[in-house]
Amino acid sequence: MSNLMPQDQAERCTGQPDGQPEILSTPVRSADLGAGLTVARALPTRGRRMVGPWCFLDSYGPLSFSGRKAMDVAPHPHIGLQTVSWLFAGEVLHNDSLGFSGVVRPGELNLMTAGRGIAHSEETPKADTGRLHGLQLWLALPEAVRHGEPAFDHYSDLPVLEPGGGQVQVFMGSLGGAQSPGRGFSPTVGAEVRVGGNGCLRLPLESAWEHALCVIEGEIELDGQQLSPGALHYLGTHREGLELRSTGGALAVLIGGAPFGESILMWWNFVARDLDEIRSARADWQAGERFGEVRAWRGARLDAPELAGRLRAS
Ligand code: MN
Repeated sequence: MSNLMPQDQAERCTGQPDGQPEILSTPVRSADLGAGLTVARALPTRGRRMVGPWCFLDSYGPLSFSGRKAMDVAPHPHIGLQTVSWLFAGEVLHNDSLGFSGVVRPGELNLMTAGRGIAHSEETPKADTGRLHGLQLWLALPEAVRHGEPAFDHYSDLPVLEPGGGQVQVFMGSLGGAQSPGRGFSPTVGAEVRVGGNGCLRLPLESAWEHALCVIEGEIELDGQQLSPGALHYLGTHREGLELRSTGGALAVLIGGAPFGESILMWWNFVARDLDEIRSARADWQAGERFGEVRAWRGARLDAPELAGRLRAS
């Protein structure tokens, strides 16, 4: 997806790894995009900018629809990041300026590596189930690879852990000995976590990494605290594992990774290091340069929003 809540000012985002075992919950920011589609931004927020290399987490839906496209995002550019598209229900058709086309469905991963620049569109395909519920996540690319060639990969075979008490599917990175085939560039984990009713799910964690849980449906008990939807629950570092309980069953996403160690600058759909890079990417998009064309798309592409000349106060 495109960043549908753009601000005119670019935002400096830096990890703040916290070794304390307490749970730091920051509320998501919700926006009604019309036609019944609500987006909830869990990252970045004022309280939390990054978790490992993860710098963006939007959830959207659940939504039922008929006779229209629930998702209809015209071509837009990205730099310096990987987009991770993960669905709980429905389907999304991706087309990009490299000529790749791919529908993503629940249990599958669409992974786009923007590198120095790519453009893509995302829309509800012609054959749809009339449902839409999913996540859009971004991974910041580290300095060594962020100017590299763009790429797109689709993965339909992702590892599932069933440790008792629930089910976990690892879509990026590694968790509990399972490794996603998704091509990544930093030590990380991204996983869908389903805790069964009256279940207790135990997961080992990399203790040097920081982690966060975003509850999508239901309630999860961790360390004697109830974790609810509507917040990002930051879990800090130095955890050897998690014991997740739920009475009525719950769905959540676990993100984590080694603290990123580089300060990034985010604006619209760009992840960079300074304002000149963002200005240059914006100008190239507006001039029809660098990013190529999404030839599969019929219709206008997204216009870049205005960019202010100074950074947003953090
Ligand atoms: Mn996008």
